[in-house]
Amino acid sequence: MATFAPMAQNEEIFKKIISHSKEYGFVFPSSEIYDGLSAVYDYGQNGVELKNNIRQYWWKSMVQYHENIVGLDAAIFMHPTTWKASGHIDAFSDPLIDNRDSKKRYRADVLVEDQMAKWQDKIDKEAEKAAKRFGETFDKDQFLATNGRVLEYKEKIESTTKRFYGAMERNDLADVKKLIEDLEIVCPVSGSRNWTDVRQFNLMFSTSMGSVSEDSNVIYLRPETAQGIFVNYLNVQKTGRMKIPFGIAQTGKAFRNEIVARQFIFRMREFEQMEMQYFVRPGTELEWFEYWKTERMKWHQSLGIPATKYRWHPHDKLAHYANAAIDIEFEFPIGFKELEGIHSRTDFDLKAHQEHSGKKIQYFDPELNENYVPYVIETSIGLDRTFLAVLSYAYTEEKLEDGSERVVLRLPSMLAPVKCAILPLVAKDGLPEKAREIMDTVKYDFMCQYEEKDSIGKRYRRHDAIGTPYCITVDHQTLEDNTVTIRDRDTMKQERIPIEKIGELVRLKIKG
Ligand code: ATP
Repeated sequence: MATFAPMAQNEEIFKKIISHSKEYGFVFPSSEIYDGLSAVYDYGQNGVELKNNIRQYWWKSMVQYHENIVGLDAAIFMHPTTWKASGHIDAFSDPLIDNRDSKKRYRADVLVEDQMAKWQDKIDKEAEKAAKRFGETFDKDQFLATNGRVLEYKEKIESTTKRFYGAMERNDLADVKKLIEDLEIVCPVSGSRNWTDVRQFNLMFSTSMGSVSEDSNVIYLRPETAQGIFVNYLNVQKTGRMKIPFGIAQTGKAFRNEIVARQFIFRMREFEQMEMQYFVRPGTELEWFEYWKTERMKWHQSLGIPATKYRWHPHDKLAHYANAAIDIEFEFPIGFKELEGIHSRTDFDLKAHQEHSGKKIQYFDPELNENYVPYVIETSIGLDRTFLAVLSYAYTEEKLEDGSERVVLRLPSMLAPVKCAILPLVAKDGLPEKAREIMDTVKYDFMCQYEEKDSIGKRYRRHDAIGTPYCITVDHQTLEDNTVTIRDRDTMKQERIPIEKIGELVRLKIKG
């Protein structure tokens, strides 16, 4: 039984992160001069660096550090039969419901899950209250297993889960609507219960290829990168002489016509995925599923974010292709939400492509001396959501000893957009020339920024706000003895070091 996150815990902080992202060149609304495009965003000068660094770290962890995982970059456009085989044409849809008074559209499953989140929130609050009342003698597990009110809420969550997923499985959309009515769910905007019927809405964007607008020319923007890997399975396995178990990793854009597309870059209509499909011998898939669960959780925590910010969310209802599935959820400012999915996809996709293409997609296992269609474990993570996770964890407002305040992004140094700022104390007396000289010696090794405008204090603040781990200041003493000061973003401490030590120190800091 899954647990549900309390809703919108920290809207204020979330708003601040959104405006900080814009003010400091991380994320802009798409085509903003035309008032933006709903749920589409652009990454600015600092955002693109952070995003590239996250992607690169994922790529290294998957492809470079695993000898049996190789990369791929498949096209976004794919033969339309791909999506018939994968089930996306028939089954990639969300149940949709409109409120007649506000004219707002919602995902029926989100309305129901939000309602369950409210009950879960109440359970958490009961436990918190009891913990305060009983102090050290409080036994949380026992309380949750016996308290009358908690049991009531738990029962509601369980019966609602059962009814909702049962109705979805039977495709009984009338019962989904009835459930929303029975739960007395109101539209958050109009406050009314004036709902339309529930209907299914396919999330794929389509466009046409070529000049004749016939059905056969309809193609789709891929809703996931995974299928590019499946259709290339044979190409990679054969040309790379890959032996099972092995993986294929890919990063790239995916497109979904999301209905509930709010929440900044958390849910976009154009986003980027980082996916890896791991091909295994049938019957061993659940062991590999466990292996990749552990590996992926380790990866997240290697970003220096504490374990308490993550939790598991086992799926209540498995997708049509899976025999095991779990999400890694992250505590965003809007509550715990999915960041990555780990799925045991069985041989569903390869078999489906085999049937639809008429090509044999199999592996000859020399140890077993037999042919089979491999089973697949998938790890699928959103790059934009990881960006949001890293950014929201890093965003810190600090009150300093002198009473002033600063906003600092405590990004892991290896992910920071700029690793090192080179700042002449004043823009005269030969200091800019000396600073430029230093810049020329380090800029080939890592991303550096030269800045001479504004007071040194303001420049430090600007670099704190974009998460630059080190600021190097060139002052008059530098001209005499070739030393500079190096300021640490987090401690704000400054140290004097010889110029030739800069490279070594920064390299050490960003190694990760
Ligand atoms: P959700 O339940 O939030 O809609 P999902 O279960 O449909 O997500 P998957 O199909 O498992 O997501 O996709 C894998 C990953 O891709 C997700 O864990 C998420 O990080 C990312 N992702 C999916 N949809 C979006 C989106 N619309 N915008 C940004 N990232 C997304």
